Parts: sequence; C-alpha cells; structure tokens
Amino acid sequence: MDNNYRKDFPLLLTREEKGRRLVYLDSAATSQKPLSVIKAIEGYYRNYTANPHRGAYTLSEDATGLYEKAREKAAHFIGCNNPQEIVFTAGTTEAINMVALSYGRAAVKEGDEILITVAEHHSNLLPWQRLAKEKKAVLRYVYGDEQGQISLGEWEEKINSRTKIVALGHISNVLGGINPVEEISRMAHRHGAVVVLDGAQSVPHIKINVKELDVDFLAFSGHKMLAPAGIGVLYARKGLLDSMEPLMLGGGIVEEVGEQSVVFMDAPWKMEAGTPNVEGAAGLAAAIDYLNQVGWTNIHNIEKQLLEYALERLNGLNEVEVYGSKHPENRAGILAFNVKDVHPHDVASILNSYGVAIRAGHHCAQPLMKHLGVSSTCRASFYLYNTLEDVDIFIDALSKVREVLGYGT
Ligand code: PMP
Repeated sequence: MDNNYRKDFPLLLTREEKGRRLVYLDSAATSQKPLSVIKAIEGYYRNYTANPHRGAYTLSEDATGLYEKAREKAAHFIGCNNPQEIVFTAGTTEAINMVALSYGRAAVKEGDEILITVAEHHSNLLPWQRLAKEKKAVLRYVYGDEQGQISLGEWEEKINSRTKIVALGHISNVLGGINPVEEISRMAHRHGAVVVLDGAQSVPHIKINVKELDVDFLAFSGHKMLAPAGIGVLYARKGLLDSMEPLMLGGGIVEEVGEQSVVFMDAPWKMEAGTPNVEGAAGLAAAIDYLNQVGWTNIHNIEKQLLEYALERLNGLNEVEVYGSKHPENRAGILAFNVKDVHPHDVASILNSYGVAIRAGHHCAQPLMKHLGVSSTCRASFYLYNTLEDVDIFIDALSKVREVLGYGT
C-alpha cells in the first residue's frame, strides 16, 4: 500500500539506499519536507529576499509581511489567537533555554522546586538543571512505572507550594507516551506553578490548543513538522512574555537606545534580536498549510494504522523487546526497542543495508535510559508519509538481524 502523501515528498521518491527504496523511520529526529515547503523557501529567495522590519522600501515591507503572516499562522495552529504570544526561535532547544534563562532566573529562588520527568529530552532537562544549581533550587523528577506511564497520583504527590515550574514533554521522544497535560496544568496552577510544555514531538502529530491545555509556555521545532531547520516557536502567555527580559540583545528589538539606556519594543519583537530567519518562517507557514490541508483526522488515522501494524508485527518477533506501553492507544508513532544480544548500532547498520533508516543511541534522554536499565535503544518513528509497506520492509529486515550476526533466528 502507498498512502496519498508519500508522493508529495521528493526525497522519498528519488533517494535510494544501498540500491533499495529508502524507508525513512526517523521522523522523531527530523521530518522530510514536502515540495510545497521546498517551493515556499525558494519563493522567498526568488521574490522576497530582504531584511524585514528594517527598510522603508517595498521589498523589505514584503519580507516583513511574510514573516508576520507566518507568526499569525503559527498562533492559529496552536490555538492561540494572539500572534504577540509567539516568539520565533531556532527551535525547541532555544525556546526552552529562553524560558529557563529569562523567566526562570527571575522567578526561581533558593529552596524552590522545579519538577520535570525522568523521560525528558536533554533540551528540557539541562536548562533546568543549571537553573536549579544557580539558584540553589531543587530539581525534582516524576518517574512513572517501568513502562514510563506516569500516574496522576505521582504528579499530585510531587507538585506542592514550593513548585515554581513544571516542565514536561508532551510526547516522549523515546517511549512515545502521551502525558495528560490538561490535568497536570490544573494541578500546577492550583499550586501557583507555571507549566512549560516541550511540544517537539506532539505539535507535528496531534492537534494542539494551548488554551485548552492551559500551559504557560510551549516550545516546538519546525524541522520535525515538515518545515526547515533553524525555525521554531516559543508560545508564552502574554502577561508572562511581557514581564520577561530579552535574553539576546542586539538589533531590531528597541524603541530607543541611549549611551546608558534602552527602551525595548513590546513582546514578541523584543525577544528576537538580530536578523530574523524569514525563509525559515516562510517554510514553517507552508508546512502549517500542508498539515492543515491533510487534516488532523487523516494524520491521526495514518499514524495509528502504522503504529498498530508495527506493534503487532514487532510483538511477533520473539527476540525483540519493545519499551513503553504495549497499548497503541497510549502512545504516538515512536517505537523504542532492542534486539536480544545485539547492540542497537549494529541493528541500525544492518537495517541500513536493507534501505531502512532508524535511530540508535540514547536519544538525548540518558536519565530515561538509566531508568529503563539500558544504555541505548533502537528507535523507529513514523510520520504521515510512511506506509504499511515501509513497516513490512522494516520488520522483514529486523527479523534477519540476528541471523546476519550468526545467532540463528
Ligand atoms: N525535546 C524533544 C522531546 C525532542 O525530541 C527534541 C529533538 N530531538 C528536542 C526537544 C530538541 O529539539 P531541537 O533539536 O529541534 O531544538
């Protein structure tokens, strides 16, 4: 079976690996780009190249229009109707660091608590670890069960009046587990804490509404949602963003500068020092258009079908251990697994010889690896351009790994 969307992704149609069709199963690392996104970036270079917010000439005004339209589109995409709550960043990593360094440094005091999960990507761990050290605050963790499923009871137990920040990934980039953000936000707010949501793995795959989730900050990356690298978003609740100090200082963020003084522009512009990534924003806007056109129901149905089929076939392989929930309804299209007695890097390189691209390693989540009792895992992740045929090629190749290494089947 070939789904309708694969044909929109030029690389998937033309690239071969070891003389075979490329089966790309590493979308949790980065996604492929549809032709419409590639064309939007080219369109900027061909028709709009200019520095926005600077020139009084029409070309610069056009570039400004393109950039600010992308901001409006990003706002609607995540259910916030105020573009002034959207800061363009280089990606999730920069966005979370911005919150930690700007909001966190002002809000967190000695003895306060910052609460994260053991499954966090290092991007949503290290900024909080450093902040906690600097402020003599306490970095606490919720752990969940051996499948990584965290009960609301454990959140309830760990959020208290000392908690100032609750920072969590919406969907784990290893286990694919989906956290119940609405309930966690409610608990956090009851205790006066703010909620920082790492949406790197959720925004590309499920409909997000920041108002319904009731989060204070949301970070995500363009490159995981069909857009180019180097563009991402920090959503921040208006009042909070207004109160934040700009992290980077430079051009394009001031009303007035004196020798010893500065008056910053309003948010979000005060947070975006330097020449902005207009081509990235144009690509992000085109990616949002593409995702909207496909629709969340289709995206959900494709990924659900891929996940259910892959899980069913993986469960049929005796020597493969899958991490995380065994129930497809509790997880997104990310599958971490290991093959008995085989190092994940060997699995990945044998799969590569069959044209299958998967990730192997610690996935920038070392505390989680430790919690699971492994040093690394393989990871296959899906997106809307994958097909059941991709899953078949992947599992057929996987079933040969131990044989290739001389273990027998
Ligand atoms: N958080 C999660 C859950 C991720 O999967 C990633 C990317 N692997 C990041 C944060 C960091 O994203 P980026 O590298 O695009 O800044």
